[in-house]
Amino acid sequence: MLSITCRDVGQNCDCIVQGETEEELMKNAAEHAVKDHGYTEEDIMTPEMKERIKSHIHKS
Ligand SMILES: [Zn+2]
Repeated sequence: MLSITCRDVGQNCDCIVQGETEEELMKNAAEHAVKDHGYTEEDIMTPEMKERIKSHIHKS
């Protein structure tokens, strides 16, 4: 299982987003950011943000 917390990517939020694969994690992270933080998917899916998310993924 892969996971990331919002705090890892600079949000003041302790939610943990999980996914079985990197692709699923990115999708779940985008959904969470849109639903709970008022972002649009375009805001999240920039190359910079993808890199930031990827560099903070925890494996468990
Ligand atoms: Zn959050």
